[in-house]
Amino acid sequence: MLDKKKFYINGEWVSPKSYETIDIINPATEDVCAKISLGNKEDVNEAVQSAKTAFKTWAFSTKEERLAPLEKLYELYKKRWADIANAITLEMGAPKDFATKLQAGTGAAHIKTFIRYLKEFNFEKPLGEHAKNQRIIYEPKGVCALITPWNWPMNQTCLKVMPAIASGCTMVLKPSEVAPLSAMILAELIHEAKFPKGVFNLVNGDGANTGNALTSHPDINMISFTGSTRAGALISQNAAKDFKRVSLELGGKGANIIFKDADPKAIERGALRCFRNSGQSCNAPTRMLVEKSMYTNAVERVKQFANEMKVDDPNKEGEHIGPVVSEVQYKKIQSLIQKGIDEGATLVAGGIGKPDGIEKGYFVKPTAFADVNNNMEIARTEIFGPVLSIIPFENEEEAIKIANDTDYGLTNYIQTQDKEKANRVARKLRSGMVDVNGAGIAVDAPFGGFKHSGIGREAGKEGLLEFLEVKSIGGWN
Ligand code: NAD
Repeated sequence: MLDKKKFYINGEWVSPKSYETIDIINPATEDVCAKISLGNKEDVNEAVQSAKTAFKTWAFSTKEERLAPLEKLYELYKKRWADIANAITLEMGAPKDFATKLQAGTGAAHIKTFIRYLKEFNFEKPLGEHAKNQRIIYEPKGVCALITPWNWPMNQTCLKVMPAIASGCTMVLKPSEVAPLSAMILAELIHEAKFPKGVFNLVNGDGANTGNALTSHPDINMISFTGSTRAGALISQNAAKDFKRVSLELGGKGANIIFKDADPKAIERGALRCFRNSGQSCNAPTRMLVEKSMYTNAVERVKQFANEMKVDDPNKEGEHIGPVVSEVQYKKIQSLIQKGIDEGATLVAGGIGKPDGIEKGYFVKPTAFADVNNNMEIARTEIFGPVLSIIPFENEEEAIKIANDTDYGLTNYIQTQDKEKANRVARKLRSGMVDVNGAGIAVDAPFGGFKHSGIGREAGKEGLLEFLEVKSIGGWN
């Protein structure tokens, strides 16, 4: 069992003030694989004060002073890539290949792209030709609280830490208490890359105690949070008291609109996108909307795809899916599958219980429901498991209406070979991202949602701007 009880504060690994610990459970075996500490108010305060002191100089650092350790960090990350992937497999159950290529891969991609955006970004510019003595300056927002979830741990951590560093902010990261191990490796790499003391700090702990102490701390200037809509609302309340800047990446209930002229692989591609990462992606297309004339055929194909989808040990290589992250998550998914059955949706694949032959671990059967009505709970709640709802639609107008009839607005998907229709529908969908025909959203494209899916954008230039205040100076010489 790994002993991960120390925190990274002011450039060193320190023993916490708190004596409380949390067990980290390997979801594939249900065994305790590590112990972390649950940071208390004193631990949080120490980390915030360290970041506050560092801000005084880091805020005025040059591009070169930020780029040098970031470039070093990228090289170090590549060397520890396999360790990071293994930690992700251990903490949240992503299968080896998926953890290596996608989970750890996106972390590396974000470091690389933020280096590029930092190089290109102009932190000072005149307002325009008409007003040359008007200067616009982009300055770091200050001391940031970065709070991340467990489902894409390195992706989300790098989406926050890299732009915070690049913008000149200093920070306290509180990784998910369910999956903190990969983020702790990142802290080791940040140490090796020799960032100035206090620029980056890490405190572990849960949401109710540590997270709350961090987001209500008066010396925090900005909160960047990814997680549930529930926690996002609580954090916003904390932030409102002293006008902390807030960036929120929350849940989703993406629609995948499959028109009858969709390409031949659209159905299977949509099911795979829903089941991948065991359904634990905020941007998963969990509502498959299918044009009525091909509905029966689509249901048959999803049924076959789900039945053939392999669920297996995450330590094995291959394209299978692993367990879901925790017992809590497993039970939540089971109860929502039962809810779908009780609501009268037709269960076409999967269902209650673990896959055949599996007794230990939080493994869930890839599950698909047909004849789902968009008012059913399984169509409205973010299940965060491998559960797909298939909903029929009559025409383009109805498809758009159903897709937009949700509290969320993160990613929607369109499948059609009619280019004009694709663009027309993409404009009408109320979501921060629209993926047409499986093209994917670029790693540096703005990532974020409309409505209850959040506030603000991560990744690329918009991701950097989230960490910057704009100052206008008149009479610049
Ligand atoms: P969660 O909200 O329970 O926890 C996320 C993080 O917030 C954890 O670090 C937790 O300790 C902390 N936290 C919880 N309550 C808090 C509070 N009151 N104050 C401060 N911190 C608090 O979410 P989760 O279960 O870890 O993650 C799953 C959720 O994240 C899903 O709803 C998913 O859709 C969402 N998510 C969104 C995106 C996105 O970019 N939109 C990406 C990934 C995950």
